[in-house]
Amino acid sequence: MPAMKNIDAQEFSRALLNWFAAHGRQDLPWQQDRSPYRVWVSEIMLQQTQVATVIPYYLKFMRAFPQVQDLAQADIDEVLHHWSGLGYYARARNLHRAAKVVMEQHQGRFPESFEQLLALPGIGESTAGAILSLSLGQHHAILDGNVKRVLARIFMVDGWPGKTAVLKELWSLSRMLTPKSQAGDYNQAMMDLGATLCTRSNPDCPCCPMQEHCAAYRADRVSDFPGRKAAKILPKRSVQMLMLVDGRGGVMLEKRPPSGIWGGLWSFPELKLEDDLSVWLQQHAGFAVLEIRTLPERRHSFSHFQLHIFPRLILLEKPGLQVLDGDSRVWYNLSQSQKRGLAAPVQLLLQELKEELK
Ligand code: SF4
Repeated sequence: MPAMKNIDAQEFSRALLNWFAAHGRQDLPWQQDRSPYRVWVSEIMLQQTQVATVIPYYLKFMRAFPQVQDLAQADIDEVLHHWSGLGYYARARNLHRAAKVVMEQHQGRFPESFEQLLALPGIGESTAGAILSLSLGQHHAILDGNVKRVLARIFMVDGWPGKTAVLKELWSLSRMLTPKSQAGDYNQAMMDLGATLCTRSNPDCPCCPMQEHCAAYRADRVSDFPGRKAAKILPKRSVQMLMLVDGRGGVMLEKRPPSGIWGGLWSFPELKLEDDLSVWLQQHAGFAVLEIRTLPERRHSFSHFQLHIFPRLILLEKPGLQVLDGDSRVWYNLSQSQKRGLAAPVQLLLQELKEELK
């Protein structure tokens, strides 16, 4: 922590807050009618997702679930439907579970203590600190991705922030610098600085209010911080996605198991790449197949592997058999929008299918 000795925490936060007053973002949807519930939903959506992407999802979500009660009472399918396209669906499932806990254990009143918030599914220390400081002005430090990057640069903190020792150092800096008063504005200012000036690539140092405090800038080593994770090659998984279209234009979708990738979302039946499609079709009696088309391969990256999708379009002669209908399989009507959570690649494939079948 080479530059720490020379930094006056008060002067640091003053410089940042002055900049925030003039240039910070003050008109984001979750900054209006602030409440712990509204800020909570925004903080969860903003994990791993940029502000511009989140805004339309947030507005739609709050229209559907204006209060925590509405979210708790909703069906998980409806919650996932409103999350479709945002990715990292465990976030939506945790939101839903947490809303139920708020109803059951806190009489529907969103908790306002740090410990109670931490006990809710999907809320870690930084998120709890952000919710309470931004919505209620409580004094808590935060350490989201933006703040990690800004602090790593300003204090030239070596190492990848995913490592425990590096994280510990960044937390201690964040706690030390967060002022007792205006903690909410300070936290929002740090996030804004990271999102607008101290960006991952091409940070705008000449316009930065923290320039004179910034060790990496002074040393002309901004691009060295934060430290990077050792690169690893993602393993590859391949699946055939079976797009079965029946005689009425219905497409078969299956509900995935509640955990695992796209848990609880609707997707196409899948086969391993090496499995024989004709055997699968024979085993599922009742499919008189008119035609099978192989569509181009597509890829979807997860944090721990890359999925190679081989779509097979299978046109069936007759309407789908009733035996396949049920809680976990449906014939999805392409011409009517339905409240079902769909994984992003499935949504895209359905759209392409609509074009293909025109
Ligand atoms: S001077 Fe540059 S690297 Fe340092 S905080 Fe500002 S934008 Fe980030």
